[in-house]
Amino acid sequence: MSKVVIIGSGLGGLSCGLILARNGHEVTILEQGVQPGGCLQCFSRRGAKFETGMHFIGSMRPGEPAYRLLKYMGVDDLPLSQLDPDGFDVVSIAGKRYKIANGREKFVETLAADFPDQRENLERYYDTVRSFSEASNLHSLKPIDSSNGEISEFLLRSVDDIISSIITDPKLQNVLVGELPLYAGAKGKTPFSTHAFIMDFYSQGAYRIVGGSDALTEKMLERLSSLGGKVLTRTPAAEIVCDDTRATGVRSASGEFFPADHVISTIHPTATMALIKSHLIRPAFRHRIERLPNSVGSFAVYIKFKPEAMPYMNYNFFGYRTEQVWDCQFCTPEEWPKSYLYMHMCHEDGAKWASSAMALTYMGMDELQPWLDTKVGRRGKDYEEFKRRKTERLLDEVEKDFPGLRQAIDSVYTSTPLTYRDYTGIIDGSLYGVAKDVTNLNETRVSHRTRIPNLLLAGQSINSHGLLGVMVGSVVACSFILSSGEVIRQIEEANGDNKK
Ligand SMILES: Cc1cc2nc3c(=O)[nH]c(=O)nc-3n(C[C@H](O)[C@H](O)[C@H](O)COP(=O)(O)OP(=O)(O)OC[C@H]3O[C@@H](n4cnc5c(N)ncnc54)[C@H](O)[C@@H]3O)c2cc1C
Repeated sequence: MSKVVIIGSGLGGLSCGLILARNGHEVTILEQGVQPGGCLQCFSRRGAKFETGMHFIGSMRPGEPAYRLLKYMGVDDLPLSQLDPDGFDVVSIAGKRYKIANGREKFVETLAADFPDQRENLERYYDTVRSFSEASNLHSLKPIDSSNGEISEFLLRSVDDIISSIITDPKLQNVLVGELPLYAGAKGKTPFSTHAFIMDFYSQGAYRIVGGSDALTEKMLERLSSLGGKVLTRTPAAEIVCDDTRATGVRSASGEFFPADHVISTIHPTATMALIKSHLIRPAFRHRIERLPNSVGSFAVYIKFKPEAMPYMNYNFFGYRTEQVWDCQFCTPEEWPKSYLYMHMCHEDGAKWASSAMALTYMGMDELQPWLDTKVGRRGKDYEEFKRRKTERLLDEVEKDFPGLRQAIDSVYTSTPLTYRDYTGIIDGSLYGVAKDVTNLNETRVSHRTRIPNLLLAGQSINSHGLLGVMVGSVVACSFILSSGEVIRQIEEANGDNKK
C-alpha cells in the first residue's frame, strides 16, 4: 500500500487520514502545532474550558450527511446536546429578536408570526435552500453537476440577490442573513450556495459537542491510531519536494524527509504554494493562488462565569445594533463592533448553569499592523491594552442584550486574527479561509487536483468550511487516490444502505 503524507491535522487532515488509513494506506500527518485538531482545539484557563473554532454542528441525525460521514470514519459516538429546536439561533436586529427554528413547518411558522404576508415566500425560501443543498455535492458526495442549470445559477448569484428575488420584505431579508458570521458573507459577493449549505446544515437540528470540540479530535486520533496512522505534532512542513514529474515527499522544518507516494495538503492553498519550488506549478497558477481573497478574521472574548451565576443558554445569539446586517466587517474603530455572535459552551447535557461562553465579532488585519511580526504571548503591553479596550467595547454590546452579564463574569481571555494565524497557520487569521466571490468565481475556486499529479488539496478553502464542508472535501480528495466511487460505496456500506 502507498505512503501518504498529509500536511495539517485539522478536521481536513484527520478526515483524509482516516479515509486512507481505513483503506490500508500508510498515513503520516505532519502538524506544525503543539496540539492536533486545528480549529477543533480547545484551551483551558483557571478550570474553565473554551472552544476556539467549532461551537455547534448540524446534520447529525441518523441518515444525514455529517452523521453518515462520521459513522463511516468510525466516529459515531460523539457526545451531543441539542440546541433549542424552536430557536437554535436567535437573530436580534435593532433590539427585535427573531427565532430560527428547526424543520420546515416550525421555521416557517415562527417567522411568519412576524411576517404574515411572507408565509409563502418563506416556504419558497426554505425549499430553495433544501433543494439546492440536496442536489449539491455536499449531499450527493459527488463533484457539483455543472449541467444542472439551477445549481449553476445558485453558484453564480449572490446570497442577497437570490434572497431578495424570493423575499419581498426587506426586514425579513435581513433576518434570513442574520447568521452571516457563520460564513462571513459579503454583500454582492458570497454565492447563494455558501449560504444554502450552512443554513441547510443546521436546518433539521443543531447540536453542541458536550465537553468541547476537541472530543472530535480525540475520537478521530484514537481511530486513526487503531488503523496504524500517525500524527506528528511540532513538525511543520517546510517543503513539498518534487522531481521532474511528481512529488517525492515532504521535508519538515527540522530537515527530516518524509517520502510519499501521495501528498495531501490541507492547509491554506497560498501557504501550500509557499512550500513548492517545483517548475511543475506554472507561474500563472502560483500567482492566482498567492492572491486569493480570504474571509475576514475575528476578535473573540472567552468568558469564564462565576459558579451558578449565568443560566445555560441553549441557543446562539446574533446581535445587530442597527437594521444594517450586511457589511458589518467594514466599520471605523468608533463604530466597532457593529454586530456580534454570543454562545455558551456545553459542559454537560442538560446543564442548568453555563461555566464559559464566547462573544465573537469581525476584526480585520488593518488594526493589527503594529504587531504583525510578533508571536503569541510576546506582542507587548500596547497589544494587551488594545485587546483590553476591544474587550470592553464588545462586552458593552453584549451587556445591552444580556443585562447583568458583567456581574456573572469571573474572568475573560481574548484572541485576535493574529492568534488564529499563529495557532492554525491560516493566512491573515481569516475565519474560514478563501472567500468565494460570484463576481470572480473562477479566480476564487481552487480545485482538489494540482499540476503535480500526486499532490492533492483539501481543507476548508477548497470545498467549503465547517464540519460537513471540510469532510466532504476530504472525501472528494481521497477519491482521487482510491478508485472512483469506492469511497461512496464504503460510506453506503458503513451506513448499512445496502441492507435496506
Ligand atoms: C472562530 C471559528 C468558529 C467556527 N465555528 C464553527 C462551528 O460552530 N461549526 C462548524 O461546523 N465550523 C465552524 N468553524 C469552521 C471550522 O472550524 C473549519 O472550517 C474547520 O475546522 C477547518 O478545518 P481544516 O482542517 O480545513 O483547517 P484547520 O483547522 O485550520 O487545520 C489546519 C491545520 O494545519 C496546520 N498547519 C498549518 N500550516 C502547517 C504546516 N506548514 N505544516 C504542518 N501543519 C500546518 C495548522 O496548525 C492546523 O492544525 C469555525 C471556524 C472558526 C475560525
